[in-house]
Amino acid sequence: MHRCIKINSADNVAVAINHIGKGTVVIDGVSARNDIPQGHKIALEEIPEGSPIIRYGVILGYALQDIRKGDWVNENMLELPPTPDVTRMTFGTRAGWDFHHTPPKTTFEGYRNPKGGFAGTRNILAITTTVQCVAGVLNIAVDRIRREILPKYPNVDDVIPINHAYGCGVAIDAPDAVIPIRAIKNLLDNTNFGGEIMVVALGCEKLTVDRILGDQDNNGGNVIVLQELEGFDAMIRAVMEMAERKLARLNERRRETLPLSDLCIGIQCGGSDAFSGITSNPAAGFAADLLVKAGATVLFSEVTEVRDGVHILAERCVSEEVCKKLGNEMAWYDNYLNKGQVDRSANPTPGNKKGGLSNIVEKAMGSITKSGTSPIVEVLAPGEKPGRKGLIFAATPASDFVCGAMQLASGITLQVFTTGRGTPYGLAAAPVIKVSSRTSLKNIWNDLIDIDAGTIATGESTIEEKGMELFDYIVRVASGEARPAAEKYRIANDLCIFNPAPVT
Ligand code: CA
Repeated sequence: MHRCIKINSADNVAVAINHIGKGTVVIDGVSARNDIPQGHKIALEEIPEGSPIIRYGVILGYALQDIRKGDWVNENMLELPPTPDVTRMTFGTRAGWDFHHTPPKTTFEGYRNPKGGFAGTRNILAITTTVQCVAGVLNIAVDRIRREILPKYPNVDDVIPINHAYGCGVAIDAPDAVIPIRAIKNLLDNTNFGGEIMVVALGCEKLTVDRILGDQDNNGGNVIVLQELEGFDAMIRAVMEMAERKLARLNERRRETLPLSDLCIGIQCGGSDAFSGITSNPAAGFAADLLVKAGATVLFSEVTEVRDGVHILAERCVSEEVCKKLGNEMAWYDNYLNKGQVDRSANPTPGNKKGGLSNIVEKAMGSITKSGTSPIVEVLAPGEKPGRKGLIFAATPASDFVCGAMQLASGITLQVFTTGRGTPYGLAAAPVIKVSSRTSLKNIWNDLIDIDAGTIATGESTIEEKGMELFDYIVRVASGEARPAAEKYRIANDLCIFNPAPVT
C-alpha cells in the first residue's frame, strides 16, 4: 500500500495517505523526520529557504526556512506567491495537448435536439415560471400531472417545474440583471426538455414573458397567465391540459446513436476535503480528457475555487480572446466580492488547513484538476450558452446549488459531482453522478455515492482506472442505461439562479 501520493513528476512534496509516524520510510530514500498528519505534505527532497515548494507541478509558495528531506511541510513554512494579476496573464503556453489515451467509446444513445446543437440525455417536460408567485399553484399541478397524466406517456422521464426566486421585486433593468434573465431564458431551452416550451406567468411581474421567449414562441399555445383565469381550478386545468399536449409530442422522441460530440456535461465539486485534489478530482479530470478527446463538451466552473490558480488556466486558453474573457470574468467576480467586503484571506478555512491544504493556491489547484489537461476553448459568463465544443470554463459561483442551476442554463444535460464530506445534492433536470474522494464516505453513504475514487489514495486503483470507470458510467447514464443514486431517489435541490443585482 502507498504511504503518500505525488501528483506531478515536478513535485518536491507528496501527501500522506494516512498518518505517517516519524522514521517511517515513505518512498525509496525518503523517511519521515517528523510525524506527518493524514493529508499533509512531506518534503521529498532538500528545499533551501526561498526555494519553491511544488505540488501539482505548480508553485504553492516559497520556503520560509530550510526544509529537509522527510520534513512535514505545513502552512507556516511557506510564503504565498503573489495573487495572479488577471490583466497580465500569459495564454496558450500549455494549450498544446499530449493526452495519449484513447476513448473506449465515441458514441452514446441520446435525444437529438429538434433545434440542432447538443443532444439530450433525458426526455423531460419542464414548465418554466416567470416569477416565484406562481410556484405554489404550479407545484400542485405538477404533482397531479405526474400521478394522472405522465403514466400515459412512458417515453417521457419526468415533468418538472422550473421554479426560482427571481421575477418580481427585483431591479429588472440593473446592469447585473442580465445574469438571472439570461439564465432563465437559456434554462428553458435546455435540450433535455426536447424543444417543448411551456411557461406559467402571473401577469403583473417584472420578468415579462417577452424577456424570456421570442415572438414565435410567445403565444397561447405555450404560455398560461394565471391572472387571466377564473380561479384555482381553472388554473390547474389549464396547466394540465397544456402539459398533456406537450407530453404527447415528447412521447414521440426516441434515443438514437449519436456522436459524443453531441454531448455537453458539467463538472463541479462540493464539500471537498484533503483527498478531493488527489482522488476524485483527478479521476473526474481524466474522464473529462477522454470525453473532450471523443469530441464532447465539458463545462467546469466555480470562480472562487479557481481564482488563485487562474494563471494556470490562462496558459491552457487557446487564444488571446479566450484568455481575456477569463480575466474579465475573474475581475468581475473580484469586484462583486469587494462590494460585499469579503476578505479573501479567510480562504482556505481552518478545516482545510487541518486537512492539509496550506493555502489558497493549493486549494485552487485541487479544484482545477477536475478540468483535466485539455485546452480551454471558450469562457462563458454566468448562464451563457457555449458557442464551441471542447473544454469550457463557465463562470459561476462555487455554491453547489447555484453552480448546478447556472450550468443547466449553459446547457449541460448531465453533471459529475465530486465530494469528500458528502452532500445528497441532486438536480431534477439532469442526472447527477456522485464521486467520493474517500472510501469512508462511500462506506457510510453506499446508496448515495455512485463511484468511489478513494481507492486511488490507497493504491488499490489508479487515476486512469477510476477515470475510465467514470467515463464509462457517464456514457451509460447519458444513454439512459444507468441511473445514478440522486436520480433513482429523485433527490433534487431547488433551482437557485444567480442574481447579483439588487432585490427591491
Ligand atoms: Ca461547488
